[in-house]
Amino acid sequence: MRPQLLDCIDGFAYQACGPARDRLDSVSAGFSALTGHSADRFTGDAGERYALLIDPQDQARVADAIAQAIATRQRFDVEYRLLRADGERRWVRERGIAVADATDAPPRIDGWVEDADAARRALDAAREALQRERRFIEHAAEGIFETTPDGRFLRANPALARLLGYPDPASLIERLNVARHRFYVDPQARDELLRRLEHDGRVEQFEARVRRADGRVLWISENVHAVRDDKGRLSRLQGTLVDISERKAQELRSATGALHDPLTGLPNRALLRDRLQHAIEAAQRRRRLLAVIVFDVDAAAATAPPLRPAVRDDLLRAAAARLPDCVRASDTVARYGAERFVLLLQDDVDAASIAQVTQRVLAELARPIPVDAHEATPRCSLGISVYPDHGTDADTLLRHAEFAMHEARRAGPNTFRMYTAELTHAVAQRVNLAGRLRQALQRDEFELHFQPKLMLVGARPVGAEALLRWKPAQGPGAPPSQFIPVAEDSGLIETLGQWVIDAACTAAVQWQRELGVPLPVSANVSARQFRHTDLVATVRRALAQSGLAPQSLEIEITESCLADDSGRFLRVLGELKALGVALSIDDFGTGYSSMAYLMHLPIDRLKIDQAFVAGLAADAPNDAILRAIVGLGHSLGLKVLAEGVETERQRQRLAALGCDEAQGYLFSPPVPLPRITAYLRDTLARAPDQAL
Ligand code: C2E
Ligand code: MG
Ligand code: MG
Repeated sequence: MRPQLLDCIDGFAYQACGPARDRLDSVSAGFSALTGHSADRFTGDAGERYALLIDPQDQARVADAIAQAIATRQRFDVEYRLLRADGERRWVRERGIAVADATDAPPRIDGWVEDADAARRALDAAREALQRERRFIEHAAEGIFETTPDGRFLRANPALARLLGYPDPASLIERLNVARHRFYVDPQARDELLRRLEHDGRVEQFEARVRRADGRVLWISENVHAVRDDKGRLSRLQGTLVDISERKAQELRSATGALHDPLTGLPNRALLRDRLQHAIEAAQRRRRLLAVIVFDVDAAAATAPPLRPAVRDDLLRAAAARLPDCVRASDTVARYGAERFVLLLQDDVDAASIAQVTQRVLAELARPIPVDAHEATPRCSLGISVYPDHGTDADTLLRHAEFAMHEARRAGPNTFRMYTAELTHAVAQRVNLAGRLRQALQRDEFELHFQPKLMLVGARPVGAEALLRWKPAQGPGAPPSQFIPVAEDSGLIETLGQWVIDAACTAAVQWQRELGVPLPVSANVSARQFRHTDLVATVRRALAQSGLAPQSLEIEITESCLADDSGRFLRVLGELKALGVALSIDDFGTGYSSMAYLMHLPIDRLKIDQAFVAGLAADAPNDAILRAIVGLGHSLGLKVLAEGVETERQRQRLAALGCDEAQGYLFSPPVPLPRITAYLRDTLARAPDQAL
């Protein structure tokens, strides 16, 4: 050993003898600095064993390493905790070699012990930092990844897997390749990302649309940096990724929301009014015409029960998507209300172009729209107003087109009307009436009257029909023929109709209790109740609440219901029938029900419209029609009832024609509940022995 040199090093060098370095023969000067002990204590024959300075936890490991080195004549390199004189434990590193000489004497060991505390602490810190990083990556809310330039994932954290719709990082790494698999919706997005990485080394807030595992598209923002190999080539992409779909939607909404309808993307009310205003000014300057077409896409018309809101939205969206094709690019299609749309035609407007657009809209909306696993055909009626004939400002043009639309709706589905001055008055009256009816409903101003139905032969009562009456506390009332259509137009009939069914059931329970005979009641329902409400549920509830047997309720439908699309209508009829309720067709003969169609309806009774009865005496051809209707009804196994029988002569003629039952002033006008009960009691007493 060359003490001068070795004494300069940190730590100490030693020579030891014996298999386990039992005896230190010599140590360099650094011994006392590192151990705090004087070297004399541990050297020479009388020296203490150096191994005692090793932390007992490490002793066996150190002894093994040295024994191994001796056996194999190899180097050893161990780290252990050294117990210093001052009680401190300090990590040291010992390296050495077993040196054998020619004799069989135990090998000598030359070794070197140095302070490893600083290095060891740094290592521990690094290890801990690594673990912390791993935990951070595991729990990070943003997706973290490492990919190869050709799109394979090397690393992914759970957040990334979650975001992209994979059960865990492993399956993402296995299944996803961002270069293939059409990951980026825009195929150029990845090229762009790589190009910028190549150029700048990093890309921040790179926004793109990507596909999740389930195919859903989401907006993401990526921060990526390039990792290069020693030749400077791109070897890895490391980065983070967050979902910004919500923010994008928000941006989109605020960009277009102020002027566009979020559901359909069409111009909204505000934008339409603005365009209309400008169009009026332009038309004024150029002395041209403008046309405003207003219509509702009546989504509920084709389905019962009413559409779920989401499905209704789908239907409106699909209907809206067809509209731009019906007009020219210079025209405006706007969503003006929930179901209301407005078309503004502003170039080369004349009768022909208005007619063309009108026809196209009606045709487009008459094509069934697939919704919710079936198809629906919305109803729609168009109202048209023209500048300057029907108004010279936006409000007036819109209002008058709406008047015309209401008029068109009254005329029947899928029609159109042009505004006329007379309309204003009629519409205003109806609007006024609708307001009063709404109040009447709140104030409980409605009541039911009942008109008996009797057998034509023998005059035994077979039931009574409930007819709605309006008794306003103030002002004049109106007959049902006036207020029912208004209630239908305004949607009031839905509430009113429910009330009628409830009240009719309750009344029948009452008279049945008094008479002891199960005479049924019949209630009228309007076409709108079929379309817009869950009629079956209403009836079921009314029966349950009143306790009336289903056989004691009859529902009267008019032929206008039959004009409805058949599938849904038939289903509702079938469900009512299945409840046990009887069904009749009111005002038969006035509408369009064909005989073939009747055959498929689960009805029990035809009610011949009073117009046929009124004409009975006057002309003979009527007889032939009546005879045919009665014959038809009977051949289908239906009961036939004549409405509006006012004279004894009519009664006799009808009886001769084979008609089964009758209703009319000849027997009784519609009367309040106490009087109908009395009437039924009296007539039952007079005709007691005839079977029902
Ligand atoms: P409807 O169901 O055909 O009712 C028969 C109408 O004829 C009733 O008119 C009744 O008062 C009237 N009437 C009865 N006997 C005679 C007669 O011998 N001669 C003449 N000329 N008329 C007679 P009302 O009560 O004014 O009802 C008119 C229509 O209003 C009803 O026709 C029905 O369609 C509708 N309506 C009445 N109540 C309701 C209701 O609660 N709901 C619905 N949706 N419609 C109703
Ligand atoms: Mg009726
Ligand atoms: Mg009738």
